[in-house]
Formats: sequence, C-alpha cells, structure tokens
Amino acid sequence: MEGEFDILIPTSHPFEEEVECELRRLVARHKWPIERAGLSVSFVMRQSEVSSSDVSQFKAIENGQATGWVKLFFNHLFLIQNPGAFIRQIVPHEMAHAWTKARCVAANEKPHNRHDNVYIARHQSLTQQPIKEHGDLISMFDARPLRLVSNGQPARCSCKGDSGFWVLKPTEADNLAREPIKCPRCLRPVGIVDDTKVPEAIREQCAYIHWWKSNGKSS
Ligand SMILES: [Zn+2]
Ligand SMILES: [Zn+2]
Repeated sequence: MEGEFDILIPTSHPFEEEVECELRRLVARHKWPIERAGLSVSFVMRQSEVSSSDVSQFKAIENGQATGWVKLFFNHLFLIQNPGAFIRQIVPHEMAHAWTKARCVAANEKPHNRHDNVYIARHQSLTQQPIKEHGDLISMFDARPLRLVSNGQPARCSCKGDSGFWVLKPTEADNLAREPIKCPRCLRPVGIVDDTKVPEAIREQCAYIHWWKSNGKSS
C-alpha cells in the first residue's frame, strides 16, 4: 500500500459504482490523514443501519501512523431507494466517521462515533452543504421492507395508502395490547393486519431483498 491509497470495493450494481466514484473523490479531496490505510467497502442489508464503519482491523504502529483496513458498510437497499441522497449525504457522512475513527487509532486513542470537525468543516466548504443529523438521514429511507423480511408484523393506522402502512418489530407487535402505538399523523392506534394489506411497492422490494440475499450477498 506504499504511497497509493487502496479502496477495495466489489461492486455489482451501477449505483454501487457511483458510491465508489464518490469515495475516491472524497479520499482525494480530503487528503485521508492516515497514510498506510486502505478502505474496504461492503454493501449489506441491515434493517437498522444506513451505513456503518469499523476499525477493528486497523492498528496503530508508531509516530501517529496506523496500518490495515478501515471497513465501511453501506445499506444496498437504501442506496437503490434513494441513490441521490445516499451518495450526496450518506457516503460523506460515513466517511466523516471512518476518518475520525482512523485518526483515533493512529493516535492510540479509543475510537468514538463523534464527527471529526476538521473533516466536516472541509466537506461543508467543498460542497456548500451542511452534513445532516442522523435522524434526518434515516428519515430519507424506508426500512419497512427490511423489517418485513425479518419477521416484522404488517400493521395499519387510518391514514390512506402507503403512509398508513406500518411494519412493527416482533416485540412491538407482542406488546401492542399493553402499549398501543399511535400514528403521529392521524393519532389513531396502529393495528396488526394480514399479508394481503402489504402495498405493492413494498412487496416488490421484499422480493428484491430475497433475490439479492440468494445471490450470495448474505448480510
Ligand atoms: Zn454521524
Ligand atoms: Zn395514521
């Protein structure tokens, strides 16, 4: 890895290739602070995360240097749901976390999940766009299909159409009698329904998830 910065990213979809382009551009623009690091990128489908990063295979050596791979994980379903937002917001956001953690390891500090102000300031001056808060990021994507394929329970409130369709976690569904869940829009309680009430678009995404996982992308 001497001199060259390695990015290991097996892509299998045109949007994944766009993520790769964006990562290469970010690494070049921001001057990755750790010389002997590589980025190893995987596309996964985890219902609770849009993206995550991991530095457990990355070690401090000496003089503020570290070596190994910084791992990035991006949620493939959320990428194809909203590729523009994913590439403009999620990719630089996760890079801010990865960058921070890598600097911590190089400095022999415990990695943490706060954002690196140097990276954020540089990114905002380059893109003229503020990095969004986590809640705002998650609200740009729809986790219902992922919940549904993980034994989530289909449910509805009184809101019409897609927006009244809910997928409860199995524990939420079990507790529904004791702890009713109220829709923040119609203020009516959410109730369990059968599979025939699953909207067509969500049904299609569930089929896609099964296809994707059966093609060797098991996560
Ligand atoms: Zn963050
Ligand atoms: Zn409602």
